[in-house]
Amino acid sequence: MTKINKDYTKLKSSYLFSTIAKKVREYEAANPGADIIRLGIGDVTRPLTPNITAAMHKAVDEMANASTFKGYAPDLGYDFLRKAIADNDYKARGCKIEDDEIFVSDGAKSDSGNIQEIFGRDNVIAVGDPVYPVYVDTNVMGGRSGEYDEATGRWSDIVYMPCLEENGFAPVLPTGSKVPDIIYLCFPNNPTGATIVKSKLQEWVDYANEHGSVIIYDAAYEAYISEPDVPHSIYECEGARTCAIEIRSFSKNAGFTGVRLGFTVIPKDLVIEGVRLHDLWARRHGTKYNGAPYIIQRAGEAVYSDEGKAEVRGLVKYYMDNASYILNGLKSAGLSVSGGVNAPYIWLKTPNGLSSWEYFDLLLDKAGVVGTPGSGFGPSGEGYLRLTAFGDKERTKEAVDRIAGIVL
Ligand code: PLP
Repeated sequence: MTKINKDYTKLKSSYLFSTIAKKVREYEAANPGADIIRLGIGDVTRPLTPNITAAMHKAVDEMANASTFKGYAPDLGYDFLRKAIADNDYKARGCKIEDDEIFVSDGAKSDSGNIQEIFGRDNVIAVGDPVYPVYVDTNVMGGRSGEYDEATGRWSDIVYMPCLEENGFAPVLPTGSKVPDIIYLCFPNNPTGATIVKSKLQEWVDYANEHGSVIIYDAAYEAYISEPDVPHSIYECEGARTCAIEIRSFSKNAGFTGVRLGFTVIPKDLVIEGVRLHDLWARRHGTKYNGAPYIIQRAGEAVYSDEGKAEVRGLVKYYMDNASYILNGLKSAGLSVSGGVNAPYIWLKTPNGLSSWEYFDLLLDKAGVVGTPGSGFGPSGEGYLRLTAFGDKERTKEAVDRIAGIVL
């Protein structure tokens, strides 16, 4: 008889976005014509830019011509894109990463979810709390979670690293009896918007090398870094080539959320039990993935042209102007806020000790503004709300003014 993968049945349903949608529907029904502003979405809203779409149009024309038509893409990515990535994102920053250490993919979600497949089931994983939920859920699917405790909202075999106000919303090095084998770090962070300086990241790299752990570094929001001491890549740290995998995306910088493109970097020096993780991932990619589309990879290449870079800077600036407005507007209103300087996320502490959902309801009810309850990103997110800077400028201002105007 057929057996299912029982690990999938352990997964907790994510009620976060469906509950938000339900509450908004109920509010609309009770307040017909209400003007709701959504500051909860994690998706971009600005369109693709002219030089990037021009590259796509050109690639479409090539596909329509027998002499330039392209079939299957190389599974690890076209050389032109791997080179553009290695040159611009790494060599230009002094990081020693070669073209063939870049694996092009359809985005950071797939890579951050799939990467656990190349590791044994009996590895202990550590995650920041709160964080992007994909890391935990895919390790539950991979059988590394243990049992779920409803009271704490945690899995018994996973090491949670609370990211709290007192530690600047960044995880601290694990000191407990369980030494994590695989450590997920996400900087700039979703949902808190927190980052760490290079000397702090170096401590993680040193820890991983000392304990034989691997760091999976999700830098999907790298383009939003504005402060000079915040590293753009983990490979800026000494020794990262022997312990770190880095994952990046074209979604939040160039607006590719609907187009799909990302990449993972695995240095050849990263060797576990005598095996190069680079080779395992190449095997996995070659077996299960048939390559990101040519048209999209040409669009990705255009992101690294001078014009493309200027356009991406423009997109990032648009969202970061929103982030500043949210951050400063709410601060002036006496609220406790962080993030929003190196990330398009603002982490808002609920006033008067309200729970995340109580404050969500209050903002919806009194201001018609939708945020995302922090508790949806992990138990330590309780008491916070995530606001995003991805909306329209005028609407974002309006939302901030409305929140600031609430008298509690
Ligand atoms: N990593 C983090 C931390 C994210 O927040 C997101 C999307 O919100 C992703 C990865 C997914 O990126 P992509 O669109 O490339 O799949």
